[in-house]
Amino acid sequence: MSIAENVAALRARMDAAARAAGRDPAEILLCAATKMNDAERVKEAVAAGVDCCGENRVQELTAKQPLGAYEGRPVHFIGHLQTNKLNKVVGKVDLIQSVDRLELLEAINRTALRLGVRQEILLEVNVGEEPQKGGFTLGEAGELAARMGEYPGVFLRGLMAIPPISEKKGDNCKYFAKMRNLYIDIARKKYDNVSMVCLSMGMSDDFEDAIAEGSTMIRVGTAIFGPRHYV
Ligand SMILES: *Cc1c(COP(=O)(O)O)cnc(C)c1O
Repeated sequence: MSIAENVAALRARMDAAARAAGRDPAEILLCAATKMNDAERVKEAVAAGVDCCGENRVQELTAKQPLGAYEGRPVHFIGHLQTNKLNKVVGKVDLIQSVDRLELLEAINRTALRLGVRQEILLEVNVGEEPQKGGFTLGEAGELAARMGEYPGVFLRGLMAIPPISEKKGDNCKYFAKMRNLYIDIARKKYDNVSMVCLSMGMSDDFEDAIAEGSTMIRVGTAIFGPRHYV
């Protein structure tokens, strides 16, 4: 299957999942998780109509961006981000989805103010409370959203989560539902410097459940590009 065929098949499954949940398919965006795929393959995904691209590693972002890999689509950062690499990311991506700790939020804010830009971000939530994973607890994310006015270099656009690896379909619905509830709760409160427009959750193996539970953006790698070959 080509990348274009994979994207078309994925869109059909996304639309079916949206309709089954009584949702408008246009509400759900497809972010191509492009890690380990070169600029040419990323361009194929863009041509096939993905809504945005998500990179995990700064090195891949800085290699592919000058080659025009994402041209015509927003690019997001979705991986673990070290504070000493922020100059290469802040102001260079449309959205940083993986703001997973206070130190990183503060550093992004400082870098953005220094560069004279406003960086759009999502807060990453460790919804399964897994010790090996980064991310805020649900409670921490809710409290931080209330204080976003203290960070004028950033603009909070929503939440992102990577739930635990699931054994079977349906297992992650409870985590997705917790995310949706927090997302709605924050949106309702109309905090300064916050506009909740993106609930990023769902990957190749669980995006249909994520859509059923309110996701507005799924991040998909394998189902677009095929399996990754780690070396
Ligand atoms: C790789 C990756 C994905 C996509 O994973 P697949 O299972 O290949 O669809 C989504 N989100 C993040 C943060 C990733 O690193």
